[in-house]
Amino acid sequence: MKDNYKSKNNILIFFLTALILAILYCLFVIPAVKTPDTKQTQHGLFTGFDNSAISWLLPVLLVIAVCVILSRSVGRRSSRMMSFGKSSAKVYVKAQTGKTFEDVAGQDEAKEALKEIVDFLHDPEKYSGIGAFLPKGALLVGPPGTGKTLLAQAVAGEADVPFFSISGSEFVEMFVGVGAAKVRDLFRQASEKAPCIVFIDEIDAIGKKREGHTGSSDEREQTLNQLLTEMDGFDGKKGVVILAATNRPESLDPALLRPGRFDRRIPAELPDMAGRKAILAVHAKKVRTDPDIDFDSVARATAGASGAELANIINESALRAVRNGRNSVTQADLEESIEVVIAGYQRKNAVISPKERKIIACHEIGHALVAAIQKDSAPIHKITIIPRTSGALGYTLQVDEGDKFLMTKEEALARITVLTGGRAAEELIFGTCTSGASNDIEKATQIAKAMVTRFGMSEKFGMMALETMNDRYLGGNVSLICAQETAYQIDNEVKEIIRQCFEKACDILRQNVGKLCELTDHLLEKETLSGIEFMSIIAEK
Ligand code: ADP
Ligand code: MG
Ligand code: ZN
Repeated sequence: MKDNYKSKNNILIFFLTALILAILYCLFVIPAVKTPDTKQTQHGLFTGFDNSAISWLLPVLLVIAVCVILSRSVGRRSSRMMSFGKSSAKVYVKAQTGKTFEDVAGQDEAKEALKEIVDFLHDPEKYSGIGAFLPKGALLVGPPGTGKTLLAQAVAGEADVPFFSISGSEFVEMFVGVGAAKVRDLFRQASEKAPCIVFIDEIDAIGKKREGHTGSSDEREQTLNQLLTEMDGFDGKKGVVILAATNRPESLDPALLRPGRFDRRIPAELPDMAGRKAILAVHAKKVRTDPDIDFDSVARATAGASGAELANIINESALRAVRNGRNSVTQADLEESIEVVIAGYQRKNAVISPKERKIIACHEIGHALVAAIQKDSAPIHKITIIPRTSGALGYTLQVDEGDKFLMTKEEALARITVLTGGRAAEELIFGTCTSGASNDIEKATQIAKAMVTRFGMSEKFGMMALETMNDRYLGGNVSLICAQETAYQIDNEVKEIIRQCFEKACDILRQNVGKLCELTDHLLEKETLSGIEFMSIIAEK
């Protein structure tokens, strides 16, 4: 920023000077040269001057002035050139990030590992006395929003040592060699300040696998090579620890991960129930809440949410409280903002015809009823037909009792059956089908396909891997690793699984048509049913 401003100033001064000189030249010199002897000339302003003196003095002055200005500006620019390869790492001292391990909830394993590093930097003798040395580098891996950057900032806050923070993309430059120069400079600065911590965020920007001959990757490769060289170059005992964060560990060059470089992997996974509750509590401290807030139920309803999403839920609920003219956050605010984060805001002014509303209600009750009657489904938490900005016209929320890490074959099939329940109800009651099931169809296909290709849950293929998952932390795009012919068979198998589940959903609903109609009317009237209300109505009948 500053540099840019200065150089603009330079150029401006240079042009102004040149302009003034040019004007002076036009005013004095040209007239003087044109009319060498005539004393009565009317052109020049200072006609009384000795023209011959001006005619040689001015050009000389002009040349000198231009030379001086040029040399100065070139001098400055070349000093700018010299700073071209300087890294722009921010150096933090203790108080600056203001974050400590207190701010990071859950993530106990990660904190443990990082505490050890901080401890080492505080008191290296304790470790070297026994002959232990710490890894040079540690890699924080995990899905987006799980607090990797936050953890690094907390380390900066905890450690009484300088903390260099830089993002991997800052090394990516247009010109070959500049990124490498920046890496060199970063490590030079770091070894001067040792003991210290260097943090490279989103390291996959420079650490991607080096591949064949793509041609355009010269610069990136040089930068990566330089990083590898520097990591080997410095002495581990000196006390420079390199932290890096990424959500694409699979794409990193294996050379980065070998022992002696980033050999320690610190996972920052999505939080479990207890973790979610703790994260909610940390963020709720920053807002005023009612005393009877129940974070347990919020944590239960947010399975799969990242720390960043939970922080967002708290903030949304505070915003909602303000919007409604209250000065503290209630449980209802929290419940609503979970849905805002999952499905978007309510579309209050969406106009939906009575006929369509009826179809939507019937569709949602179809899902809920199938889920309630089957035994391997998670309990219903909420059913609503209030449209949301995400495009959902209604939805049925199921919430597991506790954390789930495994899915059995029965549960997978039950989920597909529930997903097909919406369409089944539409067909049963209205004798036709609508486009409203498109999202259900997509999800059901995903699960069925994973069952066949990755979970080994189909009889036809058994335990054969047919797909691999890339970028596990980024939603995981999958790619087939089988022959064309097999792909054809996979599709048939998937189709068969979904068909059977759909049949089952139709059966369940056919046997409970009375309940389906009654609950549909009930939902149409109330717009939203809680899980408890829903179950009590079923139990009544
Ligand atoms: P990442 O770098 O892993 O993508 P960040 O560290 O940038 O994620 O996290 C984004 C935000 O999410 C943080 O600023 C913080 O408010 C919140 N957050 C994430 N994980 C946690 C956690 N474990 N405890 C408290 N807050 C968290
Ligand atoms: Mg980050
Ligand atoms: Zn549906």
